[in-house]
Amino acid sequence: MALTGLEIFKLLPKTNCKKCGMPTCLAFAMQLAQKRAQLKDCPDVSEEAKQQLAAAAAPPIRLVQFGSGDNRVQTGQETVMFRHEEKFYNQTVLAVTVSDKLTGQDLKDRIESINSLQFERIGLHISVNAIAVINDSGSADAFASAAAAVKDTSSLAIILVSDSPDAVAAAVAKTGDSSPLIGQAKPDTAEAMAKIAKENNCPLTASAESVEALANLTEKIKAQGIEDIVLNLDGLNLRDQLYNLSKIRALALKKTFRLLGYPTMAFVPDGDADQQAAYATSLICKHSSIVVVNMVEPYAFLPILTARMNIFSDPQKPIQVEPKVYPIGEPDDNAPLMFTTNFSLTYYTVESDVEASRVPSYILVVDTEGTSVLTSYSGDKLNEKTVADAMVKFDAENLVKHRKLIIPGYVAVMSGKLEEATGWEILVGPRESSMIPKYLQEIWK
Ligand code: SF4
Repeated sequence: MALTGLEIFKLLPKTNCKKCGMPTCLAFAMQLAQKRAQLKDCPDVSEEAKQQLAAAAAPPIRLVQFGSGDNRVQTGQETVMFRHEEKFYNQTVLAVTVSDKLTGQDLKDRIESINSLQFERIGLHISVNAIAVINDSGSADAFASAAAAVKDTSSLAIILVSDSPDAVAAAVAKTGDSSPLIGQAKPDTAEAMAKIAKENNCPLTASAESVEALANLTEKIKAQGIEDIVLNLDGLNLRDQLYNLSKIRALALKKTFRLLGYPTMAFVPDGDADQQAAYATSLICKHSSIVVVNMVEPYAFLPILTARMNIFSDPQKPIQVEPKVYPIGEPDDNAPLMFTTNFSLTYYTVESDVEASRVPSYILVVDTEGTSVLTSYSGDKLNEKTVADAMVKFDAENLVKHRKLIIPGYVAVMSGKLEEATGWEILVGPRESSMIPKYLQEIWK
């Protein structure tokens, strides 16, 4: 939690020497608290004060990164309990298990199945982020071989999951340059696991069965010089897991309890794909930073990834598409021209219905700051002027020769003014996007 101006003032020399450019130390402290000044501007501040101020300025939940290249993931550093308070910063890392009992083609097929869990939704690419290699065999050699196969066959981030320091050491030796997240450190293996993490510069998972035991464990691991820690609550049912994950976040954010100020990881228990999807989505909502599932059915990932995308979007910035003219199919200058807004969900719904009509068309996307048709109309972001301006800007004049513009049925009321503003004939389209195919096939001419 950030320090107040008065708390900062207590750490300053209080000589009012003005070397920082401020008339008093108190004035400088107030500027620091508002992040309008930097501590280095006071040349006389003590080392002890510097350390205290730096510690207070550290984020309440540490940022932890693992993986390499384009697939390096970062997790943690959240600042609020609930999305609507501001926004969430680092989306939940979704990982899929690979058991080290798999070998040969079965192992390769499993990894390839995970690699292919990639989707497009409202113009955005969404996918899983990591592979969790599980030491089911109990063998260090099998664990190392499976980890090596994952590294060779996938560019996704790697999570190594074993209770055995020997197995983790063997697997890190094969994957160390991929910066895996390693673990699980437990009270009796904390020192050995921390040593491996330190030698290989990898983040470490701490695993315990209660919040209190986790705090004791992170204290032990931190004493070994490890700062990048991920917390795992072991052996709890979903209700207790959600309760304790919320408790950990609240303690980190509200009480600045540093021993729990780390991202969290949760494993979804085995079950059919539907059960796992529901379980994983609950964990994403509250408040797991990494969620590990044990399935590869593509249909079950789309709802999980969609929920994650919604939760981690900025509530103050709707997802938008670029305002411009989008040709659907291969339209010519006789093709229908219709407009919609640049709210992604609206645009992609309209786009898919136009595609379904099989009538090559143009969609003019008007910039309404990412709001839907009715919202933008009632907020006066969609009116005859914004539509007419968009038509000029994107050269509708030279796009089609019929001078007819189809408008959403919900804003039929703007027909008259739009006709006056553009000189075009205004055709009122359907209110619901799902009726567009019927409209284009049977009514448009
Ligand atoms: S330079 Fe430091 S000691 Fe001098 S007035 Fe500024 S804050 Fe106070």
